[in-house]
Amino acid sequence: MTERCDLLITNVNAATMDPSIVGAYGAVEDAAVAVTGGKIVWLGPRRELPDCTPDEVIDGEGQWLTPGLIDCHTHLVYGGHRAGEFARRLGGESYEEVARSGGGIISTVRATRAASAEQLYRLSEPRLHALMSEGVTTVEIKSGYGLDLDTELKQLRTARRLAQHNPVNIVTSCLAAHALPPEYDGRPDEYIDLICEQILPAVAREQLADAVDMFCETIGFSVDQCQRVIDAAKKLDLPVKVHAEQLARTGATAMAAKAGALSVDHIEYISDADVLAMAESGTVAVLLPGAFYTLHETQVPPVEKLRGAGVCMALSTDLNPGSCPIASLRLMMNMGCNLFGLTPAEALAGVTRSAARALGLCCSRGVLRPGLRADMVLWPMDTPDLLAYEVGALKPAQIFLGGRDVTAG
Ligand SMILES: [Zn+2]
Repeated sequence: MTERCDLLITNVNAATMDPSIVGAYGAVEDAAVAVTGGKIVWLGPRRELPDCTPDEVIDGEGQWLTPGLIDCHTHLVYGGHRAGEFARRLGGESYEEVARSGGGIISTVRATRAASAEQLYRLSEPRLHALMSEGVTTVEIKSGYGLDLDTELKQLRTARRLAQHNPVNIVTSCLAAHALPPEYDGRPDEYIDLICEQILPAVAREQLADAVDMFCETIGFSVDQCQRVIDAAKKLDLPVKVHAEQLARTGATAMAAKAGALSVDHIEYISDADVLAMAESGTVAVLLPGAFYTLHETQVPPVEKLRGAGVCMALSTDLNPGSCPIASLRLMMNMGCNLFGLTPAEALAGVTRSAARALGLCCSRGVLRPGLRADMVLWPMDTPDLLAYEVGALKPAQIFLGGRDVTAG
């Protein structure tokens, strides 16, 4: 008797990213992959494929299949743009100076508050499409340009609506603790009260966020203030993640690791003790080379130490209007290698397996393995090294979301 399956892809090389398979990419060459009910049900060398009757067969023509890419840190729902500030920074002003003079995040807050839900949706969708066209099948989207109850909800609802109308998985984070809104000038603790007592409970009631994020920096919130946000998130059963140590060492990473955070993001200035704390807590290091590049930073995250300690390293765009208006995860893979010293295989792990872990989704995706979602990309390439090496010309041949072909026509 033969077993049926929905889809069989044969004659492919699979970069499974499965760490239990020997080799940098967990490669299975001349493989076959069977999919049923949106999940991978079999993957292995083609010659070992058991009898099966597929509804559809795809000849992979010797191309490479990877897990769908995952962008685990974006702020892509926002109003306006900051091209004017770009010019100011090129003229010599720092990100911090621009932020302190009423620009920066607050100028995007003004534009996002002013935008209708419909305008916000229409501005955000092309950014999402740019990522999807590169084979991104899961995207995290943060709020944080509202900084008041209504606008934070508007941003998160927009993210949920993007998921309803586009073939992509979207997970959301409430980043109300992103910056101090002007109406709370000089009263940061009262704004933290608003987040903990009103914004997070409302977001949780509507199930609008899958996690809670915060900006723990000299120009953001203090460790003590962020600890209060973490405590409030825990009461609502929401996991946390932290923008940490991008501009200076603040102790944010130690706090996050202690709290069992999913990830700490940026971490250019972490100490050796912070690295060990992350290794112990299993907190993922999310590296954001696009922001490093845009801000002309010079302090690189301690990749060698993170690697040595066995900390999972994810890579993401940080897609946002200020420090990284770059909607390309593939470019981040290239930058992760060129600027931070990742290997091409680490870069691919950073946008698949490790990115899934950074979102708390490693049980369902990020690796090609039976039992996991059939989010997969077929690439016309003869080695997966090309994904980090080149930018622009290599496009997915086919993109599958839960086994369904969602390649844009
Ligand atoms: Zn960010």
